[in-house]
Amino acid sequence: MPELPEVETVKKALEKVLIHHKIVATNTYIDKMRYSVDSLHDVKLNSEIIAFRRRGRYIIVELDSNQCYIIHLGMSGSMRVVVDNEPRKKHEHVLISLDNGMSWRFDCPRRFGFMVLEQLHERGNEPLILAKLGIEPFDEKFTGGYLYKKIHKRKVKIKTLLMDNSIVVGVGNIYVNEVLFQCQISPYRTADSISKKECELLVKNIKEILARAIEAGGTTIADFKGVDGEEGKFVQELLVYGKHGENCPVCRNEIIKEVIGSRSAFYCKKCQK
Ligand SMILES: [Zn+2]
Repeated sequence: MPELPEVETVKKALEKVLIHHKIVATNTYIDKMRYSVDSLHDVKLNSEIIAFRRRGRYIIVELDSNQCYIIHLGMSGSMRVVVDNEPRKKHEHVLISLDNGMSWRFDCPRRFGFMVLEQLHERGNEPLILAKLGIEPFDEKFTGGYLYKKIHKRKVKIKTLLMDNSIVVGVGNIYVNEVLFQCQISPYRTADSISKKECELLVKNIKEILARAIEAGGTTIADFKGVDGEEGKFVQELLVYGKHGENCPVCRNEIIKEVIGSRSAFYCKKCQK
């Protein structure tokens, strides 16, 4: 599933090719993915694409009509921008034509993703459907003190809590495993056992690891692809995720895989306490 760095990679690539172009037609080929695609037909024709933002794993594309597209790639969604007369692929459910003869397409084989249009009150506003999301990991307000305040009374396992979007957005399963390994914290610790100092270490590593992953164009696990069809290179930098049965890069002990809260945990028993 695309996580924050992969979504950021897609957002940046889309921005490069779509910014300042105008929407001239919308074609949809199914009724719904996760949500109905009907709203996409409400777009004001000839409105210009003026801004790209990301919130958690959502991409927000703003138009000068004060409308915005909200996009979630789901499990295996991808986007590409091609010439308008290029034949449509089987799972390209949404085709948006632009004033330069290009076609912006959403390919979503498993239909867990979505693309909807929302009217914003003012430019730069947070779309209503994203209003409940927690803080961004790169926000300067996301500090050790903030995290400690949010979690120090919680009995939930730290791995599960760091993936909770109401605390911080965008820390998905790949990156939470890497962060906990880097901080030498066991994924089984409950949040109330994490010290303030450890919260600072967690926040520092969340920011660093996500930034490095964005730099590398994300991590390709299963079928993530960037807009240019490139695979994310961060997969080469993973230390524990997907490495079960291999040796820990620090102590040579075996990396193990277990399930915590229905998600896979990869960790080293010796290094992570
Ligand atoms: Zn180890």
